[in-house]
Amino acid sequence: EVASQSPLLQNLNDEQLAAVTLPNEHALILAGAGSGKTRVLTTRIAWLLSTGQVSPGGVMAVTFTNKASKEMMTRLQAMLPVNVRGMWIGTFHGLCNRFLRAHWKLANLPQGFQILDTQDQLSAIKRVMKQFNVDEERFPAKETQWFIAGCKEDGLRPNVVETRSDDDRRKVEIYQLYEDQCNREGVVDFGELMLRSYELLRDNDPIREHYQRRFRHILIDEFQDTNKLQYAWIKMLSGLANDGQMHEAGSVFAVGDDDQSIYAFRGARVGNMADFVSEFRVRHQIKLEQNYRSHSNILDSANELISHNKKRLGKNLRTDQGPGEPVRVYEAPTDLAEAQWMVEEMRHLVRGEGAEPGVPRHEIAVLYRSNAQSRVIETALFNAAVPYRVYGGLRFFERAEIKHALAYLRLLENRNDDTSFLRVVNFPPRGIGARSIEQVVDAARVAGCSLHDAVSATTGKAGANLTAFVARIDAMREQTVNLSLREIIEIMLQESGLIAHYKSERDGADRIENLEELVNAAESFVTQEGFGRDVVAMPVDELSPGMLRQSPASQGLDPSQPEVNEPAPDYVPPDAETGETLSPLAAFLTHAALESGDNQAQAGQDAIQLMTVHAAKGLEFDCVFVSGLEEGLFPSERSMTEIEGLEEERRLMYVAITRARKRLYLSYSQTRLLHGQTRYNVRTRWFDELPEGALKWLTPKNQNFGGSAFGYGSGYPSTRSNGFSSGFASRETFASPQVPAQKTEPSHGLKAKMKVFHTKFGEGTVISLEGQGADARAQVNFPRHGIKWLALSVAKLTPVT
Ligand code: ATP
Ligand code: MG
Repeated sequence: EVASQSPLLQNLNDEQLAAVTLPNEHALILAGAGSGKTRVLTTRIAWLLSTGQVSPGGVMAVTFTNKASKEMMTRLQAMLPVNVRGMWIGTFHGLCNRFLRAHWKLANLPQGFQILDTQDQLSAIKRVMKQFNVDEERFPAKETQWFIAGCKEDGLRPNVVETRSDDDRRKVEIYQLYEDQCNREGVVDFGELMLRSYELLRDNDPIREHYQRRFRHILIDEFQDTNKLQYAWIKMLSGLANDGQMHEAGSVFAVGDDDQSIYAFRGARVGNMADFVSEFRVRHQIKLEQNYRSHSNILDSANELISHNKKRLGKNLRTDQGPGEPVRVYEAPTDLAEAQWMVEEMRHLVRGEGAEPGVPRHEIAVLYRSNAQSRVIETALFNAAVPYRVYGGLRFFERAEIKHALAYLRLLENRNDDTSFLRVVNFPPRGIGARSIEQVVDAARVAGCSLHDAVSATTGKAGANLTAFVARIDAMREQTVNLSLREIIEIMLQESGLIAHYKSERDGADRIENLEELVNAAESFVTQEGFGRDVVAMPVDELSPGMLRQSPASQGLDPSQPEVNEPAPDYVPPDAETGETLSPLAAFLTHAALESGDNQAQAGQDAIQLMTVHAAKGLEFDCVFVSGLEEGLFPSERSMTEIEGLEEERRLMYVAITRARKRLYLSYSQTRLLHGQTRYNVRTRWFDELPEGALKWLTPKNQNFGGSAFGYGSGYPSTRSNGFSSGFASRETFASPQVPAQKTEPSHGLKAKMKVFHTKFGEGTVISLEGQGADARAQVNFPRHGIKWLALSVAKLTPVT
């Protein structure tokens, strides 16, 4: 009946149709991944408009990201002959900004109010604290920032924040002073956008009533990740006043999936769903259980995994699509090998096989738990000349913290690099103002010298802070003469103050991780390019030294694939006459500059998609690689101590799995260089929660030999069963290296057959030992994790008596 009347409604199942055509009353669509929630929401807007039930101005739609709102507008535009540009479709922040722009006067803001990003906000807080002599030791600015943001997310102004101690009272005082400063200067931070528009609605009756009448339909996607203030804002707009009485107003159409609630760490409150149902007296609740996205092997995996969560509203998903491909699982010896395997697999996917057509690159996604993991994947893609794009974060060498670090390194290499000088002269902030910098720039211009030299030449006059900065750079340069690249970077990170600076920042942990990744980047650059191999302080990994972080050729890659074996384009050959090469630092800086310039796909170029699992929410791809599935990484170390944290990580894994339409790959690595350390990994517990029948292990899932499948001939197949030639096909390459027999008594005191304990792998038995001193290695059989080679300089093995 209804369906046949409107072509918009044709490709919907019964539940979807029911949801799309609900009357103008509050409704909750609770449904699992890929069941068409977003499609239902978009189609409902189109249906409401096309049937004349509402005008474009009467609709408000809230999406989780800007990307999602653009997509929604594009789809609507394609369905309807209306101008969607004027419609209120956007993120909470985007819509609040729009609202405040329209009512700046009532909101007590200057017309052209500016928005502070997180960085600006921090500087503003620091300025306040300085002005009022707040002890930064006692009240670190970053913590204050965190505190203020948290208050705003809970809708609390300074006068209503509860305080229990003097410290609390002091924090609230700073909050107040910061607010005064923002008001004086006419700026707002992100939290303020939301809070200020909420308050305007709350306190101004005519405005509130106007919008309540105006928005007949408020539609919200990803409702499970709304926070307290956002929920209150929705209540206000939809006429549900604090007295619990409904006023004449529009209806709320909320769409969500409790199993995909993954932003609790940012204040999201999944309880909003239950509150919504009771407070709004929701009469229409629809579940969608048909999944249109994935084949059943993928879906079964997702269902089985999430069934391990205790706190669920309860729903399931089915698909008519047949089992499809199995979920492929791969265990790699190193993170680099894992990345190279993915690249190899992607080539086959893109090229197509037999009758199967190739997959467009943008239909292939690589997902990871933490941003720091992307570097090694980027390197592998770059070396193989595969175009890629990183979402939800800049590419590694373009991230601000990395650019700051590189600027310091450039100054060490060349003190006359004025661009770098200007980038970091006052970063981390050291009280050097724009005026003093201007003066130096003038002086340098007059004298025709670099900024560095201009400051040195005018000691005293340039100002104490500037002089100190230059002295610090000079001291660092002296300190790092003749050191390895790794040591240079480590010293720079400390001496520049970058690490200390980010340590106290609210979201600084991620940046510190990235800075530590820079050490790894340099490390693998050095070993790959052969720069300063002898001065590398890094101990050998626990695996065969022959297979780690070397040129692709020595890793057994098929030499008939020239793209992989080509040296990176930034490889700098020695001077033909003198044999001289660039210093490792100079070569690395060249590498970084080139890599940041060219390895991101051009706009419009078909590219592989890289992003964190968080950033992938709501998206879908034909082929998905979920990488780094290791205990301590995914689930993250921090989450593992509490049930709540673990359940959130499991939801995150559920989100990851359900992004895939046709092919899903899960991989992990025995070792990983992360945050400046080699980690010895155990595969994630999620593997114990997936249906074995849906999986296909590309590497043997050995209980006892998991650790030795590579390099030591314990049954790794020479060709993989799916017929793809493996990146590790030639086993000969990995023959255990010949090590001269030991003559002297080893200092570690271990012997064959001895029982030992390892903090990660537990108890095991020593099988054999080789090498001496820093090169000493032990082969140990761990009943739970298989046979492992461990570098004794790194791995702590204690004899068990
Ligand atoms: P997520 O929870 O991941 O956000 P979702 O529930 O929002 O997923 P959609 O993205 O709306 O799901 O839909 C998933 C896929 O299924 C999309 O490609 C969509 O076009 C398709 N789809 C949804 N409903 C139908 C249908 N009735 N017939 C055919 N395809 C459909
Ligand atoms: Mg969706």
